[in-house]
Amino acid sequence: MNMQNLSPDQANTPPQPAGLTARSLRSVWHPCTQMQHHAQENEGPDAMPLIPVSHGRGAWLYDTEGKRYLDGISSWWVNLFGHANARINAALKDQLDRLEHAMLSGFTHEPVVALSEQLAALTGHRLGHCFYASDGASAVEIALKMSFHAWRNAGHADKQEFVCLRGSYHGETLGALAVTDVALFRDAYGPLLRQAHVVATPDARTARDGESAADVARRAAADLEALLQARGSRIAAIIVEPLVQCATGMAMHDPLYLTLVRELCDRYQVHMIADEIAVGCGRSGRFFACEHAGIWPDFLCLSKGISGGYLPLSLVMTTDAIYQAFYHPDAARGFLHSHSYTGNPLACRAALATLAIFREDDVLQRNAARAAAITAALAPLAAHPQVANFRQQGMIWAFDAIVDDAQAAKTFSRRFFAGALQNELLLRPIGRTVYLMPPFILDDGEIDHMAGAALRTFEQVMAAQ
Ligand SMILES: *Cc1c(COP(=O)(O)O)cnc(C)c1O
Repeated sequence: MNMQNLSPDQANTPPQPAGLTARSLRSVWHPCTQMQHHAQENEGPDAMPLIPVSHGRGAWLYDTEGKRYLDGISSWWVNLFGHANARINAALKDQLDRLEHAMLSGFTHEPVVALSEQLAALTGHRLGHCFYASDGASAVEIALKMSFHAWRNAGHADKQEFVCLRGSYHGETLGALAVTDVALFRDAYGPLLRQAHVVATPDARTARDGESAADVARRAAADLEALLQARGSRIAAIIVEPLVQCATGMAMHDPLYLTLVRELCDRYQVHMIADEIAVGCGRSGRFFACEHAGIWPDFLCLSKGISGGYLPLSLVMTTDAIYQAFYHPDAARGFLHSHSYTGNPLACRAALATLAIFREDDVLQRNAARAAAITAALAPLAAHPQVANFRQQGMIWAFDAIVDDAQAAKTFSRRFFAGALQNELLLRPIGRTVYLMPPFILDDGEIDHMAGAALRTFEQVMAAQ
């Protein structure tokens, strides 16, 4: 657009919605997207709308045409207490006038110290040392490197291998992708990745006739034990996403699995890494998902919800034993890893404001009642004849759509996403798995809207194929 040809009036009108979408498609390469599905001439079943967001408030996102969408997936699982939250905003405005950023090597500041202290206290000081980064994948990289390096410092440099679960997802940088078992993300990059051991998933849906979820957990743990028996002396760590393997389609398992993994790790001298990037921060019903099993890992990764969905922040919490393995006069025995924005004060202040809301509003307690109300509101979907495996853990609900036609199954997710937007709801199924992962603030009216719109969308999408 040539601004000189516009009258002053025209120059002041905000960009039109179509204009913003078109500009975005020209200049922004959107994540996790086949960009051709956004092409504006694409009106087929592959078509994916691109929504120009103007602002957010509470559980709602608003587009530039004034349409609203209830954020049923917390903007990719990050938002806990709503958009434009007054308390987090106030904390950030205060921090902005004090210190926006300072390097964390050779310097420290109140927000990063207070956050580390509060998180350590939440683990009863079992995991009393916090190492910071910005994205979830970086936290996973750090946990993998720390595990290997701790063994190396202890004289076990031959412990170089990692174990992950079937269907695991731990991020998309090369190290994290190496312990990710989702074909869609992994296959193209296979030749670049160091091979990890993939063991059986405790996914309760894989129960055989007469098996309970705990039986599946025991069977999966036996598979891990067979590997550790054969190769334990070469293995540095196993990485597990506790209770819900989210990105593979909300595969849920019995907490017994975590207890058994902890026991096996102790017996075979292997570290346990708990990736709580998605399930941590209250999402599972407890603050840390590992609490459901009464165990602590050697490394715990947090990101996503920790900053309330405001700013990129991730961290790895670890034990004093690991910390001591690096504590030495020799620099090379230290953990010489860094990211430029490590421990960013603004992100840490957002996290402190988030933890304050957990305390002040008794969030975990109130979520239990909220979750019961959401489960009740979703009862018609749970009972729907084309719904399989309706399941829930804390503030996560999921079910699998029964779609027989292969072509319809392939486009189900995109058709559901587009259909839900028409019903003022943001949901983004993973394959045929529809899930809801809302912020922790929905009131009764919003719960009814979410459940009603999800049911209406499901019926429309199933009727159309
Ligand atoms: C999202 C996620 C990651 C990666 O986090 P990014 O910030 O997207 O890099 C890793 N592990 C789990 C379990 C996740 O859900």
